[in-house]
Amino acid sequence: MRDAEFFRRWMAAAAAAVEREADRLTELDSPIGDADHGSNLLRGFTAVVREQEAERPEQPGAVLQLAGRTLISTVGGASGPLYGTLLRRAGKELGTAAEVTDEQVREALYAGVGAVAKLGGAAPGDKTMLDSLVPGVSGLATSYRAAAEAAENGALATVPMQARKGRASYLGERSIGHQDPGATSSALLLAALADVVDAADVDVADASDVADASDASGVTEEES
Ligand code: ADP
Ligand code: MG
Repeated sequence: MRDAEFFRRWMAAAAAAVEREADRLTELDSPIGDADHGSNLLRGFTAVVREQEAERPEQPGAVLQLAGRTLISTVGGASGPLYGTLLRRAGKELGTAAEVTDEQVREALYAGVGAVAKLGGAAPGDKTMLDSLVPGVSGLATSYRAAAEAAENGALATVPMQARKGRASYLGERSIGHQDPGATSSALLLAALADVVDAADVDVADASDVADASDASGVTEEES
């Protein structure tokens, strides 16, 4: 089960990844955009971490809804409302439960991606964040790591595409040959999620090792 702290760790890991890759995201947004994707997301996710620490919502759904609202209110570019909608919609799907299953996480993110497609009017193949998000959430049916890998492959696959949505579409054929910045940042978000899951699951495995060890010592004590 995943609690509010898990989702807060995801947002913190996403913020760290955005900080690490901000220059690259902005560079990708230079030839086919206005060179602000890295700084947009850095501003947004820095605010997300700050707001989470200030409010510390107690439910997974509330964590994601607050993160979504924060992105919408702090990011001026197209990516702010789009990522904000992804997280708000996913948070709404998770409702008010204190803990949620991985299946609920998958369904929530699936709904979130659907809301992004509706808001932006884009579909896979248009050279946007959806080229990473759609295969990414499909990969969640296998595992969080499979989702991250599918998203990364989806981002790489935007290189030969011609943009049909967003600023890059103004360039027409000249948008071909460049990786989409939003698809790239989407892959970072799903990689951050997989990393947080790995860390959480290692903790669970450690805890069960401790339980196994104490079971074993219990047996020894009874036998001796
Ligand atoms: P802006 O384009 O306003 O400068 P950003 O640079 O922060 O905003 O984000 C650009 C990214 O947003 C693009 O690389 C693309 O992935 C994504 N994007 C733009 N328009 C759309 C849309 N209609 N649907 C989905 N994603 C979009
Ligand atoms: Mg831009």
